[in-house]
Amino acid sequence: MNNFQYKRVSSPAAAIAELSKDPAAKLVAGGTNLIDLMKYGVMAPDKLVDVNHLSFDAIKKEERSLYIGATVRNAVAAGNADVLKYQPLLSQAMLAGASAQLRNKATMGGNLLQRTRCGYFYDISAPCNKRVPGSGCAALEGYNRMHAIFGASSSCIAVNPSDMNVALTALDATILVSGPKGDRKIPVSEFHRLPGTHPELDTTLDRKEIITGLVIPDNNFAAHTTYLKVRDRISYAFALISVAVAIDLDGTAIRDIRLAMGGVAHKPWRLTEAEQLLKGKQATVENFKMAAELAMKGAKAYEHNAFKLKLAPNTMIQALKTASGVKA
Ligand code: SF4
Repeated sequence: MNNFQYKRVSSPAAAIAELSKDPAAKLVAGGTNLIDLMKYGVMAPDKLVDVNHLSFDAIKKEERSLYIGATVRNAVAAGNADVLKYQPLLSQAMLAGASAQLRNKATMGGNLLQRTRCGYFYDISAPCNKRVPGSGCAALEGYNRMHAIFGASSSCIAVNPSDMNVALTALDATILVSGPKGDRKIPVSEFHRLPGTHPELDTTLDRKEIITGLVIPDNNFAAHTTYLKVRDRISYAFALISVAVAIDLDGTAIRDIRLAMGGVAHKPWRLTEAEQLLKGKQATVENFKMAAELAMKGAKAYEHNAFKLKLAPNTMIQALKTASGVKA
């Protein structure tokens, strides 16, 4: 690991100033991803700006939304009474992520910025456009079992590894950021990027901006939510496929629905066409199967991940059955 400076800041303005004057500075909070990346030599910031002491550690129920600060730990958010009452899907997704120890350290802001777990990204001897732009993509012809089936490019086929981000996408969260030009709000659907020709950019966050928190608008989904994650082992494993479902049911009729998939793309994959198909329909296995078929439109597999083309719709159907209570 390279030598680096460590600086603790006590105001958002000081954090932004550090990022503005030093292009090689990085923010650190829980450090559960960044420190690993530094140990592997994937990232080598010359300065770590510690934001743990900024006052972004609150969870507040507001008039029509739920606010969660950027430095709230994942375990705290997952167990918070308001999160469980108003946005249980978020809690379910976060509890499916990582391990208890990691959730105790990892923050909301850090989870949003979590980098891909593509093995070639971590292997500094392999070509990787995300790590070294223009060097190539070892996964294209390599072992791509964990990789994307939607939205990939010839530059990168990596997936976003976060469970939390999938739930936030289904719930239409907004990310609150602050930078040299002031504050702005980014819909989570516009926060994470597809790789295109610039896979080195995971998000639309400017290098000088910091995440201060996120807001989830109120909804009527709390009684019918499911986060179903299929992975190689029951804990401390990334999703092969995950599906976030939130349904507003009127008897057996679907009044409103949100669907998002994880483990399939460079960003959490919202399934809007499948949502439209199901809205106003009965919650039946037949309708769920039709929606799952539609959701898979445009999917493309690589040599080692063709199983995802079956696993994804099957996971989606099962998640819909669980969330709606439909048995057959
Ligand atoms: Fe790098 Fe993306 Fe290719 Fe993985 S899939 S090797 S992260 S460019």
